[in-house]
Amino acid sequence: MQPDDDHMMGLALAEAKVALGQGIFPVGAVLASGTQILGRSHKTMVSNHLNHAEMNLFHQVFTGDYTFSRNDGLTLYTTLEPCIMCFGTMLHLPITRLVFAMPDAYGGCGQVRLENSPPRHVARAMEVIGGVRRADACKLFAEFLASTTEAFWLTGGASHFQAAVKAGLQSDIAQV
Ligand SMILES: [Zn+2]
Repeated sequence: MQPDDDHMMGLALAEAKVALGQGIFPVGAVLASGTQILGRSHKTMVSNHLNHAEMNLFHQVFTGDYTFSRNDGLTLYTTLEPCIMCFGTMLHLPITRLVFAMPDAYGGCGQVRLENSPPRHVARAMEVIGGVRRADACKLFAEFLASTTEAFWLTGGASHFQAAVKAGLQSDIAQV
């Protein structure tokens, strides 16, 4: 972990709260270059759509002829382990560090192994740190699951994830 990871994740959690306030699955994301914040965003559509927090953030930061390179040490902070779409997009972008809060037991790809990937990705150096402020993110997901009216969640969608949130919440309560 780096000294700013906790603080940056706090900003991502604040973005997630904005989504939660709109009844949207509470994922927030921040892109930083060292201590400089390049952008922040949150999920903006109901589940199973393309407007994930990370995709919104990428569209916000990587516009036009951007000049970021892998030497800029860009870090993506996100409150949930990225899905395959966001992880794949991240590999295409000059991001070299991924920090997430809650592991996604259902569709998380942050720890996916790249040894069978094509040359472009096989030697990709990506530092991945999970679990930063996990309990805070877990509480937001629990709040969402307790209040959502989306059929996907009410009918047991992403059951691995829902079970992990429930278990995470119980272990957090036990630690208090
Ligand atoms: Zn995603």
